[in-house]
Amino acid sequence: MMNLSTVIAYGCRYCTPPIKQLLSYTTLLNPHHHHLQARPLSFNNLNLPNFNLLLTGNCLFFRMERFWSGSGINKNKQMVEHLRRYGVISSMKVAEVMETIDRGLFVPDGTSAYVDSPMPIGYNATISAPHMHATCLQLLEENLQPGVHALDVGSGTGYLTACFALMVGPQGRAVGVEHIPELVASSIQTIEKSAAAPLLKEGSLSLHASDGRQGWPECAPYDAIHVGAAAPEIPQPLLDQLKPGGRMVIPVGNMFQDLKVVDKNLDGSISIRSETSVRYVPLTSRDAQLRGY
Ligand code: SAH
Repeated sequence: MMNLSTVIAYGCRYCTPPIKQLLSYTTLLNPHHHHLQARPLSFNNLNLPNFNLLLTGNCLFFRMERFWSGSGINKNKQMVEHLRRYGVISSMKVAEVMETIDRGLFVPDGTSAYVDSPMPIGYNATISAPHMHATCLQLLEENLQPGVHALDVGSGTGYLTACFALMVGPQGRAVGVEHIPELVASSIQTIEKSAAAPLLKEGSLSLHASDGRQGWPECAPYDAIHVGAAAPEIPQPLLDQLKPGGRMVIPVGNMFQDLKVVDKNLDGSISIRSETSVRYVPLTSRDAQLRGY
């Protein structure tokens, strides 16, 4: 059995698939290693080559590749079940929401929707990997109660905004802000085909083309804010728009990024902790993104 420090030494963006498989495999062999299940390494949102191909001569990795790809993650429900089995999802509510919003609707045609990997969606953007969506939903679960306001910055395909909308319900507000207008338009079309369509129609779910670094003041303050792109530092308008008692989940950093959990306490003070290492596309200007950063 490989020890965890060896695994973490693979902490580069090209190493995610074998790390993920190794963690899954290790956990399978050691059902008591729940800490491994609870803390998957998360390198997200980049279109990565399959690093297994580079790991020639290591038959363990090839066995794991067969284990992972042979497990039949070809349907949304099975994808969620897989995430549950490996401890990425522990919340029934998150499992239900991810089962209800079919990820298959949100990926471009011809893309493997249910594989646990980020996928390109055009405009130098990606849809986040399922395990990353699940992790962020879980971190925000307590703050996504029916009736509250939630903001999804860098909403991309609209997948998480749709999940938020189901969680906060018709009395709440789920707002997506995305700076590529074409992605906003296609996210609206997708959500119209999804289980969140009635919420979009009634207006509790909305998507806007705008610079997410400014938040969306119209519906502030927010009980939950998710940022789907990595900021060099936490944008002040987002902190300002977080409600006391509210929580923001935001990747912070450039080359090396941490998923930060930012809690605004009832007295207005801020507590920040790092959840895990991640790899997201940058939260930047539209021009920089379209130029390829
Ligand atoms: N969470 C989404 C998309 C993640 S990719 C999903 O899973 O589908 C990050 C997204 O952030 C991209 O769509 C990108 O266009 C967007 N983005 C980057 N900088 C932004 C900014 N300043 N304002 C709004 N959106 C931004």
